[in-house]
Parts: sequence; structure tokens; C-alpha cells
Amino acid sequence: MDTIARPPLGSVQTGLFIGGEFVAAADGGRIDVVSPHDNTLIARIAEAGARDVDLAVEAAARAFPAWSSMAAADRGRLLLKLADKIEEHADELALLETIDTGHPIRDTRGLDVPRTAGCFRYFGGMADKFQGSVVPVERGFLNYVLRQPIGVVGQIVPWNFPFMFTSWNMGPALAAGNTVVLKPSEITPLSTLRLGELIAEIGFPKGVVNIVPGYGHTAGQRLAEHPAVSKIAFTGSTATGRRVVEASRGNLKRVQLELGGKGANIVFDDADLAAAVNGSAFAIFHNQGQACIAGSRLILHERIAEAFMDKFLALARSIRVDDPTDQGTEMGPLTSTEHRDRVLKYIDIAKSQGGEVLTGGAAPDDPRLAKGCYVLPTVVRAAPTDRVAQEEVFGPFVSVTTFKNDEEALAIANGTDYGLGGGLWTRDLSRAHKIAQSIRAGMVWINSYKRVNPGSPFGGVGQSGYGREMGFEAMHDYTEPRSVWVNVDATLPAFYGR
Ligand code: NAD
Repeated sequence: MDTIARPPLGSVQTGLFIGGEFVAAADGGRIDVVSPHDNTLIARIAEAGARDVDLAVEAAARAFPAWSSMAAADRGRLLLKLADKIEEHADELALLETIDTGHPIRDTRGLDVPRTAGCFRYFGGMADKFQGSVVPVERGFLNYVLRQPIGVVGQIVPWNFPFMFTSWNMGPALAAGNTVVLKPSEITPLSTLRLGELIAEIGFPKGVVNIVPGYGHTAGQRLAEHPAVSKIAFTGSTATGRRVVEASRGNLKRVQLELGGKGANIVFDDADLAAAVNGSAFAIFHNQGQACIAGSRLILHERIAEAFMDKFLALARSIRVDDPTDQGTEMGPLTSTEHRDRVLKYIDIAKSQGGEVLTGGAAPDDPRLAKGCYVLPTVVRAAPTDRVAQEEVFGPFVSVTTFKNDEEALAIANGTDYGLGGGLWTRDLSRAHKIAQSIRAGMVWINSYKRVNPGSPFGGVGQSGYGREMGFEAMHDYTEPRSVWVNVDATLPAFYGR
């Protein structure tokens, strides 16, 4: 198989990871993986098609009986080893993720890689602590509830945090005793393939984890419809999520959907302005705005709007947009040319509806970045009903609007079809909790934004999907309850009198 050309990376497996081996695609298909920094070819990887997905599902099904009956602590130990292994290889993995996705190296090194290790470690520890229950039923009976693994789980992930999403998806699924077929995005498969190598090195039983990079309409579609897959976990756009639900109908598999978002970020007039400005910039510009929970709608109290915007615009203009492998870079390129063009199109859409571009709104004019997928931090004044304030742009693009009172702020915040993340900045304790309880979202941050932790449930409502990742919620979602009734001392009624 081909290896990656960039010298610091050494070689990375480019085959499909099926049954514990790296193999070529059944029909020999290949995908070109390009650098978002300059659009040069980084690697040519095997492209999984429907036949390869079938082989991966068969491998996962063969591995399921032994894996699901292994002592939970032993499954946990392998996940803990994986976390350690990721930390041993942290620098290399961070660089690989940076080159493939365009995330600045300071973020992949400081956030993506440690969070991935931390998430595998959390679920490694969880494996033997997640318990069933005993239900207090009528006298004479014992009723206990086992939490059983579901079976072969299909997982389809997007390109915005490819490495981190391996742990969010695989961590709870494997801890609970399921086996996995994961389809990374065709755009950013490299760190996931490298993870496959680490998984093989550690000695996970063959077939417990299978990795099949391929296109959505072929490999993704097959995984979602596969009759031997018992659950499909999908992270991606709302439109694709609908297709996954359709495809899953055949065997009525369980579906978990982590979809798009349009995060409201409300700044009240009593907020600590410096903290709100900083936090709001992180909320939208971190990862080039390519985050489902990004704070992409700034909703400012009219009394502080001007003071806030003076500072916020100055900060946005000062963000260093550059080569993501440079330690000093604060914002890298978007992850693909197609996506960059889509984000830039939203600037025209904003203007066509009367929006005003306050800063950014274009690619940087630095000739060193001309071949890459770069977009400047962009701030647009727009009405709450404008398309840019309703649709997910998924870039370094924030819409700004103002409000007069709490009711209006809440109405604007809740005025989209999405319901994933939302934030608010205030010093008023009762207002903070009141608004937090009224925002329609799966996650709310008070005087902060975009915090995640493997113990805290992550997911959305409305068009943002259903089901939860992380914590005990995820373990519930990756197990089936089995209720067992035992007659310990009951005299059964004589239903038939004989
Ligand atoms: P996408 O929906 O285009 O693709 C996501 C994944 O689905 C990819 O692996 C793709 O190959 C696959 N896919 C595409 N068509 C498919 C089909 N017909 N059947 C099965 N699989 C198919 O999304 P994207 O552009 O890669 O990612 C960006 C989107 O993901 C944004 O909307 C973002 O909000 C969302 N997202 C959500 C969360 C969350 O946790 N809620 C997290 C990250 C990203």
C-alpha cells in the first residue's frame, strides 16, 4: 500500500482495517487525500465499497461472541492501554491530524489528542463499573436488569474532529461489549487508520474494531442499511442523518444521531465583557468554526453591543491565520476546498439579504496561503431570520444581532430548528439558571462555551438529532436492558383452575 510522503510522518497504513489486518479494497478503489494547506496529495488510501463493508461487518460479527463475554475489566484494560499508547504517540498523531484536517498544531497537540486519550481512558475505567439493577417488584419475585451489548455497531463520522470522534464513538461501544465497524470521512481518514495500527499493536482481538474509509453514498449507505448491524451511530449533517434513518429501516436497527447545530451565544448587559469577548471568539473561531456546537449566533444586549463589538472585532482581526503546522498559528485552513467555497458563498447570501460584513468575508490575501482552503474570521450583522442566522455555515463565520430584554434574547436563541449547544454570559445567578433551563439545547454553558468532558452527556434535540454520547448516557445507549424474572417464593395463581 502507499505511504504518506511527508518526511516527519514516516509511514501510515493506507489499507482498510478489517479483521485485524490492513487490506486492499475488494475492487482496488483508491481515495486521494489532500492537504487543506496547499491542496497537495498527502496519501492515496484504499476506498471501501459495499463489499468491503460487508467483510468488515462479518469480521465484527465473528468477533462479537468472545468480546461480549470477555470480563468487562479485561475489555477496559485494553481501552486503558490504547489511551496510554495514544499519549506515547501524541506528537506524531497531532501532526498527522494537523496535516490531514488543517487544525492548528497547538490545538491538535493541546486538545484533540489529549481529549481522545482521555475519552478512551474514561470508558476503559467505565467498562467494569457500569451495572444493571434490581427492581423492587411484588413479593415472591426477584427482578433484575442486565445491560447487554447490542451486537455489531456501525459508526459513521465526519471530518471536523476525526481523531477525537474515534474515542467518542468506539470508547462506549467497546466498553459495553459491542464490536465496531467505523467509517471515517473520506476527507480525513489518516489518524483513524493510524489508530487501527495502534489497536492491532496492543492486541485487541481481531475483528473487534474495523475501519473502512469510503464515500458516504456507497460505504456509508451500506453500513446504515446492513441487516447484520444492530445499531448505527451517525455524526454529520442533518440532511445525511435523514438518509441514514431511511437506510436503517430494513432491520429496524437502533439509530443515534449527532447532527448539525446553530449555537446561540447570548451576552447580557451585566456580563464580564472581557471574558465574554474571549469566550465568544473561542466559541466560533476554534477549529475554524467547523464545530457542530460552535457559537455561531452572537446575540448581544443592545446596551453593551457597541463596547462588545469594538473588542470582539479587534480580537477577530488579530487572529493569526496561517500554516497549521506552525506552532504560532491560531486558525488554519478549512478542511476542504469544497467546504471553503460553501462558506464563502454564505457571505454573498448574507449580503443579498441585507447583512453587513463587519470583518473578514474573504480568503486572506497572503500569497503563501493562496493554494489552501483559508477563510478569514468573519463577523456579519444579520437579522435573526436571515439565512446566515438560520442555516449551519460551519466555518469561521458568526452572525450578530441585538436584543432588548431576556424574553427577546430567548426567543431569538430558540428561533431555529436546531438544538445542540448554547451559551450565555451574565453575572446574575437566577437569570443564568432561568435562561439555561429555557434554551432549547442538549448542552448549555454559563460564562463559558464549548466545554466537553467524557463524563458529561453530549447530544442535541430537534434537528440536531437524538441519543447521547459520553458518560453513563452513552453506556445506556450502547446496551440493551434485559429484564430477568425469578420466582423465589411466589405461589402462582391457578389461572385455569386445574
Ligand atoms: P456529512 O453528513 O456530509 O458526512 C458525515 C459522514 O457521513 C461522512 O463520513 C460521510 O461520508 C457520510 N455520509 C455521507 N452520505 C452518506 C449516506 N448517504 N449514507 C451514510 N453515510 C453518509 O457531514 P460532514 O460535512 O462530513 O460534517 C459536517 C456536519 O457534521 C455538520 O453538519 C456538523 O454540524 C455535523 N457534526 C455534528 C456533530 C454532533 O455531535 N452533533 C459533531 C460534528 C459534526
